[in-house]
Amino acid sequence: MKLLQNKTALITGASRGIGRGIAIEFAKQGANVAFTYNASAEAAKALEKELEAFGIKAIGYQSNAADFDAAQELAKNVLDEFGSIDILINNAGITKDNLLMRISEDDFDKVIEVNLKSVFNLTKAVIRPMMKQKAGSIINMSSVVGLKGNAGQANYAASKAGILGFTKSVALELGSRNIRCNAIAPGFIETEMTDKLDSKTVDEWRKGVPLRRGGTPKDIADACVFLASDMSSYITGQTLSVDGGMLT
Ligand code: NAP
Repeated sequence: MKLLQNKTALITGASRGIGRGIAIEFAKQGANVAFTYNASAEAAKALEKELEAFGIKAIGYQSNAADFDAAQELAKNVLDEFGSIDILINNAGITKDNLLMRISEDDFDKVIEVNLKSVFNLTKAVIRPMMKQKAGSIINMSSVVGLKGNAGQANYAASKAGILGFTKSVALELGSRNIRCNAIAPGFIETEMTDKLDSKTVDEWRKGVPLRRGGTPKDIADACVFLASDMSSYITGQTLSVDGGMLT
């Protein structure tokens, strides 16, 4: 049985990394997939083709998640093209790591805008259609760093902790409309975002994880399938850590 048959998912930031992994698992589970990217047009085209091979509809949209008007227009275009938005995955995110002494105002604002304001932008854009449908599942990509904090990532940690407060508030506000909102807190997931780190640091991280490995985009995607599907129909306002036991 396919868990997401006949559902339409909108996934932000899916041209690579975790978002791409989510798009692939969703397509395997029968979902039609609308996804966004910031600049990777070629990777997005390739992903569209890869997703269509699962027999579903897939369209990639260039759309800056940090831009409020662009998010409203995106949702309108997706609704026109797909007919519904059943699942929203707010996944797009960036890092601009530095010690607080050295974080510029611009680097703080950028991270908050792309990681946190984007979640507001897209959620605002989909709740009206979800209310009309009387159903919806919103999944926000936080981080272990949002739960714990991290030296050198004050901007990123603030954005990811902010997502958790937003998630719980949306769950409380829209539960009566059968719209669920949950967060995922990935630990150390090996993607292009983490490829930027030196290999010694990465090895140390792997050793520090109880399951003794970095996570994969599929590990996160599987958790998203669960939270997007009716398998989790009584779960809202929660943060699911997918971190190999890192915070335990
Ligand atoms: P990634 O490999 O760097 O991919 C980021 C994705 O977001 C790309 O598709 C990128 O598009 C897109 N994006 C960036 N800025 C955007 C914008 N303004 N508007 C729309 N899309 C934008 O990142 P990742 O490692 O897969 O991480 C995905 C999410 O998981 C992020 O929210 C991240 O904070 C979170 N997370 C990751 C880890 C980890 O260990 N990797 C751990 C915890 C949480 P382009 O390709 O066009 O630039």
